[in-house]
Amino acid sequence: MPQNDLSSVDAAQNQATAQPKPRKVPRIVVLGGGSVGLYSARRLRKRLGKREAAIVVVDPRPYMTYAPFLPEAAAGSIDGRHVVAPLRRALRNVDLLQGMVTGIAHADRKVTIQPEGGEAYSITYDHLIVGLGSVARTLPIPGLAEQAIGFKTVEEAIAVRNQVLNRIDVASSTWDPEARKRMLTFVFVGGGFAGIEALGEVEDMARAAVKYYPELDAADLRFVLVEGSPRILPEVSEELGGYTLEVLRKRNIEIHLSTFLSSCDDGHVVLSNKVEFDADTIVWTAGVKANPVLQDSDLPLDKLGRVTCLPTLQIVDAEGTVVPDAWAAGDCAAVPDLLNPGMFCPPNAQHAIRQANHLGDNLAKVLRSAEPTEYSHKNVGAVASLGMYKGVAQMFGRIKVRGPLAWVLHRTYHVMAMPTWNRKIRIMAGWTGALFLRREVISLGSIHDPRASFRAASAAPKPKPDAAPDSAVTSHGK
Ligand SMILES: Cc1cc2nc3c(=O)[nH]c(=O)nc-3n(C[C@H](O)[C@H](O)[C@H](O)COP(=O)(O)OP(=O)(O)OC[C@H]3O[C@@H](n4cnc5c(N)ncnc54)[C@H](O)[C@@H]3O)c2cc1C
Repeated sequence: MPQNDLSSVDAAQNQATAQPKPRKVPRIVVLGGGSVGLYSARRLRKRLGKREAAIVVVDPRPYMTYAPFLPEAAAGSIDGRHVVAPLRRALRNVDLLQGMVTGIAHADRKVTIQPEGGEAYSITYDHLIVGLGSVARTLPIPGLAEQAIGFKTVEEAIAVRNQVLNRIDVASSTWDPEARKRMLTFVFVGGGFAGIEALGEVEDMARAAVKYYPELDAADLRFVLVEGSPRILPEVSEELGGYTLEVLRKRNIEIHLSTFLSSCDDGHVVLSNKVEFDADTIVWTAGVKANPVLQDSDLPLDKLGRVTCLPTLQIVDAEGTVVPDAWAAGDCAAVPDLLNPGMFCPPNAQHAIRQANHLGDNLAKVLRSAEPTEYSHKNVGAVASLGMYKGVAQMFGRIKVRGPLAWVLHRTYHVMAMPTWNRKIRIMAGWTGALFLRREVISLGSIHDPRASFRAASAAPKPKPDAAPDSAVTSHGK
């Protein structure tokens, strides 16, 4: 197992000598196996032979998640397994360590890793790539941590899908009108790309699902969007954002702009505009922040907690001095946007994937004593899906597309960006099948507590209050 090999090599080195022996082959450790981790490791492996560098990727998950497809996974248009690329399959001749990075001591060229079971250990390295991504940016809102769910991982996307379909199932068999209203109220907080796509796709799925419930009507569904700023989709023009609002309103989605979620204790939602209601489902998509584990490192960070970088993707300190052997990219890195002076590259997959490839090329160059080059990328545009055959897109800053064509552009762009041909083919096969068979709207609600029925079956039968002491013995036991 590479995991044991690496950790035992370091442990043995540390015990035997104060100074570990220099490695024959430099070791590059990549933190995070997401967009940056997968693409930078792949590019490095392409550029460098096994005798030139050993590459190790560390991530608690065995797969990279292609997040732009999470809304379609939540809607059941893509199988949840197909929006992830298995790292062991995608990364040949790269060692993988499954565990959480809990500390980075770059001065000692050492990272600490906590595996799921067992003791934390550390590994040393010669070169570091930080691709730890971001986490949901939350606020101390009463009830939020207990009631809401994020939308950043495939687990969350599938949980949202199962929750929405399960609430529809349960509401269809409920006579209490208040309980039914609460079950059929779904709140999405955050009007950026992730929130609007998640809302658009999930609402479309819910409307398709209620057709199978004669007890329910599409008008019984209440989808609510809460956004703090006066507009949605800041990534596209105001005109296209306005068009998207119009489309969502036509679908009876209730939209509260310039409004904040004030509290949601026990599912009682209170908004800053004094609107109050009960909801069983609250999805939080109000932005991201750099991975907080970076606070447990000696790497230079900016005010937002991102690792500060040069356009070459080398980490740089506040005085402008390059931190030797340290590189970063993606959501966790503040990379100057050379095409928009004074700005940083926004946290999106478009930049993360391109930066990762550039970083791989640059590190390979530096290892061969060549100069790294600066990263710059002109945004090719933004494409968003709002449900089946519905979408908006803005290409090359000027070209605005709406409706089915934008939806086709969204699918085409992202399926081409999805890593590995295996996943591209599976996703396209799924879409083709759904054209003939319609999408799946079944809830696997109990998947989140699969042992519930076994626990119930194994529980000792309760003794009857007035029964004789031996009456609990079953006929099998007699
Ligand atoms: C719902 C949604 C929709 C999106 N849609 C779009 C879109 O349409 N277009 C677009 O360009 N962008 C989109 N994005 C943004 C895009 O997905 C991210 O910007 C991109 O994935 C960032 O890549 P990254 O490598 O920096 O982070 P990630 O891809 O998130 O990778 C980070 C990796 O680090 C791992 N990790 C985390 N903590 C640790 C730890 N302690 N130790 C080890 N590993 C760790 C994680 O498991 C993960 O694999 C979307 C995001 C979301 C959530």
